[in-house]
Formats: sequence, C-alpha cells, structure tokens
Amino acid sequence: MGIIEKMRLDGKKGFVTGAARGIGKCTATAFAEAGADIAIVDMDLETAQVTAQEIAQATGRKVIALKCDVTDETQVQAMVDMVVEQLGGLDFCHANAGICINAAADEMTYAQWKKNIDVNLNSVFLTDTIAGRYMLSHGGGSIINTASMSAHIVNVPQPQCAYNASKAGVIQLTKSLAVEWAKRGVRVNSISPGYIGTDLTLSSETLKPLIAQWNAMAPMGRLGKPEELESICVYLAGDTSTFTTGADFGLDGAFTCF
Ligand code: NAD
Repeated sequence: MGIIEKMRLDGKKGFVTGAARGIGKCTATAFAEAGADIAIVDMDLETAQVTAQEIAQATGRKVIALKCDVTDETQVQAMVDMVVEQLGGLDFCHANAGICINAAADEMTYAQWKKNIDVNLNSVFLTDTIAGRYMLSHGGGSIINTASMSAHIVNVPQPQCAYNASKAGVIQLTKSLAVEWAKRGVRVNSISPGYIGTDLTLSSETLKPLIAQWNAMAPMGRLGKPEELESICVYLAGDTSTFTTGADFGLDGAFTCF
C-alpha cells in the first residue's frame, strides 16, 4: 500500500467541534474526503446541519450534525455518547471550537476572562477527557486540539491576554494528556495556526481593520487559508502518525520565527 493509501481514514469515525464553519468545517470536510464518517459539532445547530449536508453530498460519507455547547460537561458527554451511537464508534476527534475576546487587560472584566478561558481551554479539557475515556477503553484513538500561534507569541496591536493564556494552556494540556496516555493507545496533539481567513478574523469589526497590519508583519505577507490546515489534521487522525503524540504543529507561514 502506498503512503497516500495508508493515510486514508476509511472506516474511522470522528467528530469536530466548532465545525459549522471556519477551520472546523474545513478539517471535517478533509476527514470525510479521506474516508471517515464525521459528526459536525457546534452550538449553532442550523449552520451545522447545512455544513453536514454539504459534506455528505460532496463525499458520500455519513455526516451528522450535533448541537453542543462545549463548555457544558453534560452536553459534551451527551454529544460523545451520540457520536458513538450514531456513527458506531469513535476513533479520533478535533477539539477546535474557540472564541477571541479582544480587551485590554486593565479594562477586561473577570467575566470576559472566564468566558474566554471556558470556551477555549476548559472545553478542551472536557472534550479530550470525555472522548479520551471512550478511546482508552475501546482500543485507542487520536485527539487533535486547536491551539494557536498566540500560545507562543503575544499578538499586536490588539490586546487579547485571555485568548493567549487559554491557547498556551491548550498546548500544556495536550502534552500532559499525551504523556499520561502514551502507553494506553490514545495520542494527543495540537495545531497552532497563525492568522487564518475565517469569520473569526474576516467578519470581526475589531480584527478586520488590522489585517493589513498583520500582513505587513507576516513573512508571507498574507493570511493563511483554512484549507492549509487540513492535511496535518488528516495525518494526525490516521495511522501514519502512530509515533506522534504531545506535539504542537505551527502552521503560521513563519510568523512566529522572529
Ligand atoms: P469561527 O468563529 O469561524 O468558527 C468557530 C465555530 O465555533 C463557530 O461555528 C461557533 O459557532 C463555534 N463555537 C463557538 N463557541 C462554541 C461553544 N461554546 N460550543 C460549541 N461551538 C462553539 O472560528 P475559526 O477561525 O474557525 O476558529 C476555530 C479555532 O481556531 C478556534 O479555536 C480559534 O481560536 C482557532 N484559531 C483561529 C485562528 C484564526 O485566525 N482564525 C488562528 C489560530 C487559531
């Protein structure tokens, strides 16, 4: 079997959170293109349903939409149970849902701080441990977390201390779970994208005006596209990455190199 065939995900079942749109929609599409059955998990069920239908039509895979607020333990448990029941198992997942609250630290409310940490970091603990418990007792699996280059550098000019701290936490959580589960068949890795053109950046009144400034700082002079994150996620979900765990993959066009 050639390497491309070995990388396929035929017969595997997985879910992606925050998959109604943006990066999650893109990786969910790629997983289905590679042969997996997929659950599109999002708090926005209406958009998730449209996305699921689009991907199912394009790939012929089983694609379901599930409503879930990833900050709610009961909902995450119910979502994982539903994935297992409706897809017939769980081999991999991509914990990707996230938000960015832009506020100066000395003006940020504690509620804003807690919200950003809750959606970006606590949710990854919930998703990883609940999915992980299933995988640990069912022959293993692969977990991918979306961190960010903001885990490694402090973005300027926009202030976003809670986002940056949450994403740094995602990387240490990823490494901690990878070490704890290394001998038990569950691998945990993260991706750290640079600025990517999604609704989070392109439709944000706060962030959109800053794109020209970011591009001026970027070695490639442009934003990344969600499609440019797909292949690493297919690799991490599949069986050619069995020695890869606890790793963080920078996908930022060299933005963090200097
Ligand atoms: P996006 O805003 O386009 O999509 C995020 C999706 O997550 C939306 O569909 C939203 O409904 C969903 N979501 C938000 N909160 C949720 C919750 N509590 N429960 C369930 N679903 C929820 O964002 P994106 O750009 O695709 O970002 C996806 C991930 O990538 C995030 O973790 C983000 O921090 C990270 N990231 C984005 C960029 C970028 O420049 N776009 C860069 C680095 C990292």
